[in-house]
Amino acid sequence: MIAAALSFEQARDIAGGKFGAVDAPCPLCGPDRRSPTNRRRKTLRLWCTDPAFISYHCARCGEQGFRVMLNKTLSALRSADLIGFDRDWVWLT
Ligand SMILES: [Zn+2]
Repeated sequence: MIAAALSFEQARDIAGGKFGAVDAPCPLCGPDRRSPTNRRRKTLRLWCTDPAFISYHCARCGEQGFRVMLNKTLSALRSADLIGFDRDWVWLT
């Protein structure tokens, strides 16, 4: 199975709930490696600065991006009066 990208849950599981930088084997390019050492090589660095936000970068396959838990992030923005949203729409306030 080849994952197209990390899901938020995957990223969170890999980060193990720790804050700050975490190095881990990359689930995207690791499984394709022939040698077990390379499969387990910790090429993926994740940064978790908030329970609802994780960014990551893999030094081997270049996969990078961030994952945000949208409902928590939207709620935080709404409490700060920056946006409004209902079930169908999000808007700037
Ligand atoms: Zn990778």
